[in-house]
Amino acid sequence: MVLDADSLTKHYPVSQGFMKPKALARALDGVSFTLQAGKTLAVVGESGCGKSTLARQITMIETPTSGHLHLTGIDVATADAATKKRLRQQVQMVFQNPFASLNPRKKIGHALEEPLLINTTLTKAEREERARAMMARVGLRPEHHQRYPHMFSGGQRQRVAIARALMLQPLIVVADEPVSALDVSIQAQVLNLLMDLQDETHVAYVFISHNLAVVELIADEVLVMYLGKVVERAAKRQLFAMPRHPYTRALLASTPRIDVGARQARQVLHGELPSPLAPPPGCAFHKRCPHAVARCQVETPLLRQPTDSASEVLVACHLAEQIA
Ligand code: SF4
Repeated sequence: MVLDADSLTKHYPVSQGFMKPKALARALDGVSFTLQAGKTLAVVGESGCGKSTLARQITMIETPTSGHLHLTGIDVATADAATKKRLRQQVQMVFQNPFASLNPRKKIGHALEEPLLINTTLTKAEREERARAMMARVGLRPEHHQRYPHMFSGGQRQRVAIARALMLQPLIVVADEPVSALDVSIQAQVLNLLMDLQDETHVAYVFISHNLAVVELIADEVLVMYLGKVVERAAKRQLFAMPRHPYTRALLASTPRIDVGARQARQVLHGELPSPLAPPPGCAFHKRCPHAVARCQVETPLLRQPTDSASEVLVACHLAEQIA
């Protein structure tokens, strides 16, 4: 197991104005999951559901308010500075906008060699050799080494960003909406590249996306998040064949599917995601849920395995058995 997240929670204090007490935005609320080497965990949900906050905890950009994050069996919170530095090398990130993550004044060769310059004792010649080898692996041509980011298309830039993320041979890559800014045809190329690289290197992905059609291609397991909490966690095949949570069902029903037989009855998701500053009591989804009953307004559902489910699926819904 390369990653074990246990009840990860992140609350941000938010100013409400002069002389007023600060409010707490519950961006992440008790999220738990594990990730194995060579596997892809997709994290899905609407904007503001906590996906990117989760990414910042996993990549150690932020420290969780509570909960534990174990990387390769090591508790990040209690690790010493040298261990943390080593762990940071093991978790790399690919962002939605590759242009923003590349320095426009530095050539691509420099962007790829920089992680090696900072973290290794390799010579300049060795760094360049590794950069050129990685460029070939992600489908970039040798002459691209001397080009600037603005000289690349969106798809090529994302190939550069993926190459840069893999330069230190990480165990985990957190990809935050890595293809959502690309044309559909280029999305498929980048997804195929990610999957090929995973086969070669056994890297694990945390793949953050709002697009379930993309998730269906790349994921092994799916975590569905709503207002900072996991509402459903299941193997990809299970989740797409039989979504259990009403929110998952609504997300799937609004996603165009290639498999016509798998189409769901159209189900419109009404209303907006509530504010994390004032989440609704009981089930946070109850104001938008077509199945809500009185209990949903007062009692928060626990993430649990439905009693009628033989496979490992976890759902946070009081009526998981009735609405399956
Ligand atoms: Fe809907 Fe109630 Fe289930 Fe929440 S607990 S998803 S409101 S049925």
